[in-house]
Amino acid sequence: MFDTLSDRLTSVLQNLRGKGRLSDADIDATAREIRIALLEADVALPVVRTFIAKVKERAKGSEVSQALNPAQQVVKIVNEELVEILGGETRRLNLAKNPPSVIMLAGLQGSGKTTLAGKLARWLVGQGHRPLLVACDLQRPNAVTQLQVVGERAGVAVYAPEPGNGVGDPVDVARRSIDEAKHGQNDVVVVDTAGRLGVDEEMMRQAADIREAVQPDEVLFVVDAMIGQDAVTTAEAFRDGVGFTGVVLTKLDGDARGGAALSVREVTGQPILFASNGEKLEDFDTFHPDRMASRILG
Ligand code: GDP
Repeated sequence: MFDTLSDRLTSVLQNLRGKGRLSDADIDATAREIRIALLEADVALPVVRTFIAKVKERAKGSEVSQALNPAQQVVKIVNEELVEILGGETRRLNLAKNPPSVIMLAGLQGSGKTTLAGKLARWLVGQGHRPLLVACDLQRPNAVTQLQVVGERAGVAVYAPEPGNGVGDPVDVARRSIDEAKHGQNDVVVVDTAGRLGVDEEMMRQAADIREAVQPDEVLFVVDAMIGQDAVTTAEAFRDGVGFTGVVLTKLDGDARGGAALSVREVTGQPILFASNGEKLEDFDTFHPDRMASRILG
């Protein structure tokens, strides 16, 4: 996903090689090139501005290193600032001291929520947990079945309203799932909620009601990294309409420009916890800002 950005940044930084000393004009020219590369990759403008200002300030400042030449010093600064916009430290999943923990998933339809529910469940099993998946997307006819399939593949239990009992109330299902988890000795409840194709008030209200009813330890906003700048506006809408404590980036295996993925954390102030990069259950991992920055800088 970050191939073009990565190539551009690498070549901009390579141009500095061999220079004994960097003038302010050299730094300005480099900053301009980096700015263009980030904008072309779809990174949100305010994020680009902050990033460039910091890089310039530090590169022109008094960060003199004995061990690094000026070009290496700039690479180091760009790398560190990239890690910073991606969230700095790796943020671990928050679980409750008294189980069951509740993790709620929110996001647009098609963002990869249901797939993620399976991935997260499998990952949690690997961490020694006993998750219960909960189907609260009761609007889309196939959603419950899809979650059941995903649950089966991940080898975990799924709680869903009985078929034939009407569509049911998602808030009620979420609430009841906590008791179900206690009976089934499940220590983590993962609640999959309904999404729409676009931001929609009713969907937001329903997600906010579910949040209110089950008081999750984490609300994860799931966002398709391929939707470009819309990722940022959608994130802002969910932040204001539902609120979330962390972000999951999906479809990082796509060939879109990916800059939006680099903007979500800075724009919403919430950390990226996980990244998905494929359709299979194992295409999923904890998000590490430092590793992502190194990948981008090649
Ligand atoms: P939901 O509507 O938010 O529940 O989204 P789904 O989980 O149904 O996913 C929508 C589509 O995206 C499905 O075809 C998934 O197989 C696909 N998908 C989900 N995550 C990824 C990913 O990380 N990479 C790719 N390439 N496809 C994904």
